[in-house]
Amino acid sequence: MTAVPVALGVRPPAARVADGVGGPLVDTFGRIHRDLRVSLTDRCSLRCTYCMPEQGNEWLARTSILTLDEIERVARVAAAAGITTFRLTGGEPLLRTDIVDVVRRLARIEGPDGPVQIAMTTNGIRLRELLPGLIDAGLSRLNISIDTLRRDRFRDLTRRDRLDDVLDGIAAAAESALTPLKLNTVAMRDVNEDELIELVEFAVAHDAQLRFIEQMPLDAGHTWSRERMVTREEILAALSERWRLTPVPGRGGAPAETWVLDEGPHRVGVIASVTAPFCGDCDRLRLTADGQLRNCLFSTTEFDLLPILRGGSDDPDRELDAMMRGCILRKLPGHAIDDPSFLQPERGMNAIGG
Ligand code: SAM
Ligand code: SF4
Repeated sequence: MTAVPVALGVRPPAARVADGVGGPLVDTFGRIHRDLRVSLTDRCSLRCTYCMPEQGNEWLARTSILTLDEIERVARVAAAAGITTFRLTGGEPLLRTDIVDVVRRLARIEGPDGPVQIAMTTNGIRLRELLPGLIDAGLSRLNISIDTLRRDRFRDLTRRDRLDDVLDGIAAAAESALTPLKLNTVAMRDVNEDELIELVEFAVAHDAQLRFIEQMPLDAGHTWSRERMVTREEILAALSERWRLTPVPGRGGAPAETWVLDEGPHRVGVIASVTAPFCGDCDRLRLTADGQLRNCLFSTTEFDLLPILRGGSDDPDRELDAMMRGCILRKLPGHAIDDPSFLQPERGMNAIGG
């Protein structure tokens, strides 16, 4: 049975935009797309249980991974259509040997409203060594993922003993000019739910903003359950034991709701993708490392750019633009995780790009 999306606070359908006619990337619900998540690889230095299997992962074929020239070509077309931010992700983006060149080439792109912003989500390993080059190349924002500060837990959760490397990456980022630094934590039952306050204190000590993410059904093992996930309400209840939380208005299209801690200035965020979805304001489009466009993390349909990029098209830019618009026009109103007919996508989070 086909998954039927539930309406998640979306606006009524706007006028349809024909494929390839120019202008911003608007979908049938009036959502204008400004953010392209670019997955640079499906490989990773960690094996987080909620994202990747320990063994037996079917890696993307190396020959299908987009080259820097191909990524830049897609990014130029996207920027011309109004994309203003490229978020580099993966897998682990810092595993890409040409990562500094990727940032440099994308940071030079200008859209109708000026230069684009380059953001990155990383696990932080090797960041100290790479950060000066990345900043020089034009990186503008950084999110680092950290789910626990305890070594044994980190090893169990990521199946690698690399906590010190991650902490070193966070320290390097906190000392750098890239502000505000954001840290991401997936809140998990019986894993780190007793550590939420400590993690926020750690972020505050680094002058960073911690954002808790509700765990989503994107793990390769398909072990996620709605009943066991730690919810936004539980996260807020735990934090309220320690701080007075004052909501920050004006979230816009941002995935995180934020609260000021006590008198400020520090803040904490919650990305409640499951219990309080923000699909109605979603402005994101995704490009996988093997050249598939996706209009949602949870989409079961992909739009293959490889034939355009490698097939000797007469006018690849026009075809890429048309493919982007076609992809956006097929975007559903919401992800429907709570719907009984919900289907988890085939790809794990590492191969989609978080
Ligand atoms: N390797 C980088 C990292 O971990 O930051 C970038 C890729 S990772 C897929 C991007 C983000 O997705 C991370 O913050 C990670 O915690 C989050 N993530 C992965 N699987 C998730 C899941 N099942 N539910 C919620 N967030 C998830
Ligand atoms: Fe790697 Fe990031 Fe997935 Fe963890 S969440 S396995 S660090 S891609």
